[in-house]
Amino acid sequence: MSRPANVVAADLGGTTIKAARFNAQGVAEETLRLATPSSEGPAAVVAAVVRVAAALVRPRTAAIGLCAPGLIDAGAGVVRFAANLGLHDTPLAAGVRARLRLPVALEHDVRAACLAEQRLGASANADDLLVVVLGTGVAAGIVSNGRIVRGAQGFAGEFGHIPVHADGELCACGQRGCLEAYASASALVRRYRRAGGNAAGAAGSTARLDTDPRAARLWAEGTDALGRALVTSTVLLDHQRIVLAGGMTAAGEALADPVRRTLQRGLTWRAAPPVSISPLGADAGLLGAALRAMDAAGGPVPPTRQVTAARDEERTCGTA
Ligand SMILES: [Zn+2]
Repeated sequence: MSRPANVVAADLGGTTIKAARFNAQGVAEETLRLATPSSEGPAAVVAAVVRVAAALVRPRTAAIGLCAPGLIDAGAGVVRFAANLGLHDTPLAAGVRARLRLPVALEHDVRAACLAEQRLGASANADDLLVVVLGTGVAAGIVSNGRIVRGAQGFAGEFGHIPVHADGELCACGQRGCLEAYASASALVRRYRRAGGNAAGAAGSTARLDTDPRAARLWAEGTDALGRALVTSTVLLDHQRIVLAGGMTAAGEALADPVRRTLQRGLTWRAAPPVSISPLGADAGLLGAALRAMDAAGGPVPPTRQVTAARDEERTCGTA
């Protein structure tokens, strides 16, 4: 029987590696977390991934799926550059494969989240989809004609650097007026502090929307910038649906509603595609990595929404 018994997936973040083992029905059986030793060099990061994956691998594990931020060469399994992980031209998939002797797939974290949204989310099986991940930065996964778009050099989806205001705020990329300089969690905090507020985070500024006019104005400018950028991508690609994901979606309709209005206002001659908040939450990248592992194992794609992370069983690697 070729059906895989289980797969192991890991989502590498700048501070934490989240990992889980998923059974053939796509249900997470065990979840682990480990601090990412980003400052200790590539060998330490690869060793940490091996350690957390090894703790989850069982005799019938068929493959391992990984996702990471930065510039990812998915075909070669190499992290070309990931500043937050301290990796440069690191053959991550080969490093894990050599130690654990299993097929290993590597995917960009935003594209992994996009894959999970496409196969498991509210927009299941949409052929033309945009998934915008709003966190410290802003990036997007694009599905066009049923395929995830990577671009000529693998740089597709740098949605945060779409210019929305000529001569606007300076962005970390060196350009002015980028979406990310208005609509990311870090931009909201920076702009709120500059306006004299004491920001604890993007969630802090949304909590003050009703009571602090500065927070309300900066939030409105952020959602307006996002709506404008979505006008640009919609006229270019004609999305079937737009999904908002990432930490900022904790704001729910306070985020989605003004974005929908700006988007529809900017699309004078056509209806706007529906805009929804991701139902997959912070686990989307991990779920996408699990789907890549299932692909690598040649196994079945689990039915819609059956892949779920078992938060209750979460424990820290090495302590339980
Ligand atoms: Zn930029």
